[in-house]
Amino acid sequence: MSAREAAYDAAVAKLNSIYSGQIPEQVAREIADAALDTAPQSDPWTPIYRLVGWLDRQNGRTDHEISMRLLKLVEEAGEVAQAYIGTVGQNPRKGVTHTRQDVADELCDVIITAMVALVSIADRAPDDILAAKLAKVTRRASSEGGAR
Ligand SMILES: [Mg+2]
Repeated sequence: MSAREAAYDAAVAKLNSIYSGQIPEQVAREIADAALDTAPQSDPWTPIYRLVGWLDRQNGRTDHEISMRLLKLVEEAGEVAQAYIGTVGQNPRKGVTHTRQDVADELCDVIITAMVALVSIADRAPDDILAAKLAKVTRRASSEGGAR
């Protein structure tokens, strides 16, 4: 299997995982194709716009749907906690159930769902909003002696 095929399969699996198998297989494959063919690694927004477009076509963009996209972010954040707890075996009944890679994977779900929510709710370019926020946080950290 080539690296691209592996990335393609991983993208389809990730889409199915994030959206609990609610994305039709063909749509997931189209999104994965588009992401791999058109999005340079430095531009994660292209596949996000496609995901948002697909959600908009399927569900519309009502206040209820926006709420669901925000709730999805909370769900994914919970999965980060679940995975991390699973790395330390805090639950004696379950033991160690997850790896650090699982936690990283769940963090990526948070990032993706946050980007989807941001695109869905933003009244200006979401990449500009993120860039401005990053600059603000970095400036603040720098003024406090960090992030130089
Ligand atoms: Mg997840």
